[in-house]
Amino acid sequence: MTVKVAINGYGTIGKRVADAVTLQDDMTIVGVTKTRPTYEAWRAVDNGFKFFAADREFIPRFEDAGLSVEGTLDELLDEADVVVDCTPGKHGANYLEKYKAAGVSSMYQGGEKADLCDVSFNAYINYKETMGQTNVRVVSCNTTGLCRTLYPLYRDVGIVNTIATMIRRSADPWDSKKGPINAIEPVLKVPSHHGPDVQSVVPDLPIQTIAVKVPTTIMHLHTVTVELKEEISAERVKEMWSEYRRIRFVEGGKGIKSTAQIMELAKDLQRSRSDMFEIAVWSDGVFTVGKQLFYCQAIHQEADVVPENIDCIRAMFELESDPQVSIDKTDKSLGIGI
Ligand code: NAD
Repeated sequence: MTVKVAINGYGTIGKRVADAVTLQDDMTIVGVTKTRPTYEAWRAVDNGFKFFAADREFIPRFEDAGLSVEGTLDELLDEADVVVDCTPGKHGANYLEKYKAAGVSSMYQGGEKADLCDVSFNAYINYKETMGQTNVRVVSCNTTGLCRTLYPLYRDVGIVNTIATMIRRSADPWDSKKGPINAIEPVLKVPSHHGPDVQSVVPDLPIQTIAVKVPTTIMHLHTVTVELKEEISAERVKEMWSEYRRIRFVEGGKGIKSTAQIMELAKDLQRSRSDMFEIAVWSDGVFTVGKQLFYCQAIHQEADVVPENIDCIRAMFELESDPQVSIDKTDKSLGIGI
């Protein structure tokens, strides 16, 4: 079976998911939408995607810009098995009824509330529970990062408590409007939404999160303190993580001292858009003191959810019954682990 995928919202995440889908042999893009004729709209057409207006009211904008559209989202949904909603945060909820009425399965991103969907997805954690589901949310970039490193500890050792600080990029690199550009902005609500969001995937994982926004665009950084149920060495923790390709070790001792060098490494890997799909953990920054574990990880916010979206499609349409087979296929197609 080849799953027909529509992308509603060809932006930061939408264009990456579209490209990743085209690399798979069991799914295909039937079209993408936008609301405005930005350069990304032209790129979508240049890339050979069938291009649709997200709504009839936007068609004149595209026509005025000389960009012809195949139709509207309604017509695109007629051709699709699943729509991957990549509209800005909280917009996806407005489309739920339209997707349902069209009889297509729907996938949302982490900017939507967890209760919009029956399942919040992470490939390593709940692929099997997602099989056959028709309405699923792929959790946010930060939540994906926390899930990837915390879940092996939770499952194999046990966690008494987690305290994680999210040092968040203030905007994506293309975005010249958002800030702050010269300030550090704490999120005054504690816990920040990230802890409860991790629990939307692993309900019993004890975690509190605090967040601050800093003037950088390239990555988020998490400092994480975990109280484990048993005393284990930092080496044992790293051995556990090394079994997961979507966790990549970097070393301060080899010159990777900041998020800047991680993104430079991503460029050197010569991946599309210099995406770092893996969560980068500093191997020489992992320490244990008794049962307390300390580590730092960096998240390429534009990229880490992309492989999760691909595995989510495979799970929903039961294209592979073994999660690891899907993960291996996705990782190979995106060059993850190389
Ligand atoms: P974006 O602003 O880069 O792209 C959104 C796209 O949706 C744009 O192409 C825009 O034209 C289109 N759009 C705007 N309003 C629309 C509407 N009403 N109907 C249809 N399309 C519309 O946003 P993004 O960063 O790609 O975020 C998309 C989702 O992914 C959000 O839920 C966000 O929280 C989540 N997410 C973003 C990141 C990130 O760092 N950028 C990381 C993980 C998850």
